[in-house]
Amino acid sequence: MQDLIAPHGGSLVDRFIPLGEQAEARQRAASLPALRLNRRQVSDLELIATGAASPLTGFMSRDDYNSVVSNMRLANGLPWSIPVTLAVTADEAGALRPGGDAALLDADTGVAVAILTVSETWANGRADKEHEAREVYRTAEEAHPGVAALYAQPDHLVAGEVRVIALPTHEDFPQYYLTPTQTRAAFAEKGWRSVVGFQTRNPVHRAHEYIQKCALEIVDGLLLHPLVGETKGDDIPAGVRMRCYQVLLANYYPLDRTLLSVNPASMRYAGPREAIFHALIRKNYGCTHFIVGRDHAGVGSYYGTYDAQKLFDEFKPEELGIVPLKFEHSFWCTKCEGMASSKTCPHGPEDRISLSGTKVREMLRAGQIPPTEFSRPEVAKVLIEAMRD
Ligand SMILES: [Zn+2]
Repeated sequence: MQDLIAPHGGSLVDRFIPLGEQAEARQRAASLPALRLNRRQVSDLELIATGAASPLTGFMSRDDYNSVVSNMRLANGLPWSIPVTLAVTADEAGALRPGGDAALLDADTGVAVAILTVSETWANGRADKEHEAREVYRTAEEAHPGVAALYAQPDHLVAGEVRVIALPTHEDFPQYYLTPTQTRAAFAEKGWRSVVGFQTRNPVHRAHEYIQKCALEIVDGLLLHPLVGETKGDDIPAGVRMRCYQVLLANYYPLDRTLLSVNPASMRYAGPREAIFHALIRKNYGCTHFIVGRDHAGVGSYYGTYDAQKLFDEFKPEELGIVPLKFEHSFWCTKCEGMASSKTCPHGPEDRISLSGTKVREMLRAGQIPPTEFSRPEVAKVLIEAMRD
C-alpha cells in the first residue's frame, strides 16, 4: 500500500460502524430525530463513508462551506471545489441540537442508514444559494440542472460527522462497487504504481477509447470509473453504459491493465469545479492521473470547452497531488488512417469522421450501426437494443 498515492489530506477516511455495533446503532437510531435523505445525499454519504471524499468525515461545517464556495478550499486550506452539505427544513433544523445525534434515512426505503452527530445548523436561504450557484456553477439560472437542485432544497443546512450503519444495497451490478480500500488493494496486487482514472456518464465511443488508451500508454493501469449516481433524465441509464463497457473490455482492452468499477457519485453538472472534485475522488481511489476531456461535467453551453482543464492550473500540482491529463476532441482521420486529434492531425474537417450526438442517436434509434471508425459495433448493438426497450 505504501507505494500508492496518498489519499487527499493524508489518510483514507472510514466512517463505517463496526459489524458488532451495528445492531445497537440501529436500535438507537429509532429513537433519534430522523432526516430522510434524497438520492444525491445518499450518494454523498457513500462517498464520505468509504473514504472516496477523504478528508471529509461528514457533511460540511459552515466554515468549510463558506471557504469552499468562495475559495475552492476547505477552511484548513486544502483544495476542495464542491460543497457537500445536508439541507433540511426549518422544522427539522429546530429539532436538532449541537452535540446531539440524528438518524439519516435512506431515500428509497426510509431505513436508517447512518447516525449524524450534529455540530451546527444554519439558515441557507435564497441569497446564499444564489451566491453558491454563481461561484460553484458559474450561473444563477434555474435552467441549469445543478442550480435547479440547489434552489429546490430546503433552506437550512446541518453539519456533522457521520457514522454509517449500512449503506443501501446496490441491486445493479453490485460486483462493480469497489471502495477506495478495495481499488487500492487491487492496484497493489496488480503491481500498478501509476493509474489513470477515467470518468464518464456517457456511452463509450472510439474517441473515448482512443483517449483512454493514449493515457494507458504512459501509466501502469487504467481505472474505468463510470459515474452511476443520479444523473439527468435524458442521460443514458447507468446499466446500459455498463453493458457497453463490458462488451468493449471483453473485445478490445488488455484486462490485466484495466479495472472497471463504478463511482457512486451523483452528477451536479458543475463543469470545471466538478472536474476538480472528480479528480480528488479518484486520487482517493488510488489514481495518480486523471483524464480531463472537453467540457468535463458540463451541461448545455454554461462552460467553455476547456474551462475544466484551465481550472486545474489555478492550483499548485502538489496541492492536488493527482495529475490531470488534458485531452482534446478526437476523431478518425481518413488521411492519417487512425484516431487523432487536432493536436496530432494536420488534415481538415473533410477528412475526419465526426458525427453529432443527435445524428448518432437518430442512427441508433433507427437500428443502424454507426461507422466502425466512430463506434465499436459491439457497443452500438448494446445501445440499439437499449433503445428498443
Ligand atoms: Zn489526419
